[in-house]
Amino acid sequence: MNKITNHMPTAELQALDAAHHMHPFTDNSALARKGVRIMKSAKGVWLTDTEGHRILDGMAGLWCVNIGYGRKELAEVAAAQMQELAYYNTFFQTTHIPAIALAAKLAEIAPEPLNHVFFAGSGSEANDTNIRLVRRYWDIKGQPEKRIIIARTNGYHGSTMGAGSLGGMAGIHAHGGKIAGIVHIGEPNWWDQGGDMTPEEFGLKRARELEDMILSLGVENVAAFIGEPIQGAGGVIVPPSTYWPEIQRIVDKYGILLIADEVITGFGRTGNWFGSQTFGIRPHIMTIAKGLSSGYLPIGGSIVCDEVAEVMGSKGDFNHGYTYSGHPVAAAVALKNLEIMQDEKIVEHVRDVAHPYLLERWQGLTEHPMVGEAKLVGLMGSIALTPDKARRAKFASETGTVGYKTRERCFANDLIMRHVGDRMIISPPLIIQPEEIDELIRRAWKSLDEAYAIVKAEGLFVAR
Ligand SMILES: *Cc1c(COP(=O)(O)O)cnc(C)c1O
Repeated sequence: MNKITNHMPTAELQALDAAHHMHPFTDNSALARKGVRIMKSAKGVWLTDTEGHRILDGMAGLWCVNIGYGRKELAEVAAAQMQELAYYNTFFQTTHIPAIALAAKLAEIAPEPLNHVFFAGSGSEANDTNIRLVRRYWDIKGQPEKRIIIARTNGYHGSTMGAGSLGGMAGIHAHGGKIAGIVHIGEPNWWDQGGDMTPEEFGLKRARELEDMILSLGVENVAAFIGEPIQGAGGVIVPPSTYWPEIQRIVDKYGILLIADEVITGFGRTGNWFGSQTFGIRPHIMTIAKGLSSGYLPIGGSIVCDEVAEVMGSKGDFNHGYTYSGHPVAAAVALKNLEIMQDEKIVEHVRDVAHPYLLERWQGLTEHPMVGEAKLVGLMGSIALTPDKARRAKFASETGTVGYKTRERCFANDLIMRHVGDRMIISPPLIIQPEEIDELIRRAWKSLDEAYAIVKAEGLFVAR
C-alpha cells in the first residue's frame, strides 16, 4: 500500500509548518516559536508522533474518533467507493447508493420521529443549514416573522459565520462579528455561576431564562431554540437534572422548534445513541457530525422530524445545499462506521463497561487538592480546578492560566487532555478498555501533581 512518508527531521517539518500553515484557534506566531507537535500514526486510543512518543488520546482527536484509530474496514470501504463512484451530487433529482443507505441507517438509529436527513460536510455547515431550515419552515407556515433563534452563552455550534453566531463565545464573535436574529440566554453552569443555589434550583432558573426571552421577544418572532445536550467545547458542562425537562416544557408550551446539537453527544458518547435520549429531550432537529464517521472523513448533517420535513417538502425548492452534501465516499465510510458500532456493540460497551469503570476513578480525582468537582456522562468528562473547593473559588490569576499549565503537564506526560479555562476535559475513543482507562487516570494524577507543584511554587494557588 502506498503511504505518505516523509523522512525529514521533526525540526525541518516544524519550520515548514511555521512558514506555511495557519492553524485554527491558534496563536500562530507563538506556536511557530515553540514548535508544533507532529502526529504520524495511530492505532486504537494511541497516537505516535514524529519523535516516537506514544500518546494516549484522551480527546479522540476533536471528540470524533469514536471507534478508535486504524480501522482497516473503513479504509477499504473508502478505497472501494472511490473506485466505484468517487463523486456525484445529490442536487437536481439525482443521488447515489451510499447517501440513500446512510440516510436510511440514520433514520433507523435516531429516535422517532426523526426520519429525514439533510447532509452537510461538517457540524458548522449543518448548523448553517438549520438556521435557514427553521426560518424557511416558519415562512412556509405563513409566519415569516418567526426568525429569531435563541441559543446559549458559552455554547459551541461551529465556526462558520452562522454557526459561530449561534455559539455563545465572545472570542468568536469578536473576530468577524455576528449575524442578525440570534440571541443568547445564560448557560446551566452551576459550578461557575450557581452561587448559593442548589444545582436543581439553578437548572430551573437558567431554563426559565428561555421563557423570559420568548416573552420579551414575542413568541411570534421566535423560530427555535438550540442547545448541546452537554456543552462540549464550553468545558463539558453537564446541566443540572432539572434543566432539560424545563426547557422541553417551555419549548412545548410556546410551540417553537428545538434543535439539539448532537455533534459531540451523538453516536454513543453519552452511553446512548444520542444525548437527547440520555436527557429525555425530544428535538425537532438534531445536528450531527464528528462521531458520525468517527472522523475518518468529513461529513455532517441535520436529522429532521417528520413534521418539519413534510412542511419543507410542501412548497417548492429549499434553496440550500453543499457540493459535498452526502458525498458518496464519506457516506460509505460513515455507514460502515455505524455498522461497526452496531456489530461490536460499542454503545453498550460505553454504557456497561467503560463508563462505570472510568466513573469511579474519575470521581476519585476529587481527592486531589486542586480538583473541585468531577463530572462524567458516558465517556465525556470534566474536572474543575480550584484553589478552594468549599467556595468553588476561581484562581486569582487570569482564567485559564492554571488550566493551561495543567494541560502542558499532560502533554509532557503523553496524555491528551484539553483545558477550557480552568476546567480539564476528556472525551476518549469509545472503544477504550479498562487497562487503558487505568493508564489515563495514572497519567492524569501525575500531571495534576506536577501542575499543582508548579502552581504552588509560582504563588498561583490563590483564590480570587
Ligand atoms: C465541533 C462542533 C461543531 C462544529 O463541527 P465542525 O465539524 O467543526 O464544523 C458543532 N457543534 C458542536 C456541539 C461541536 O462540538
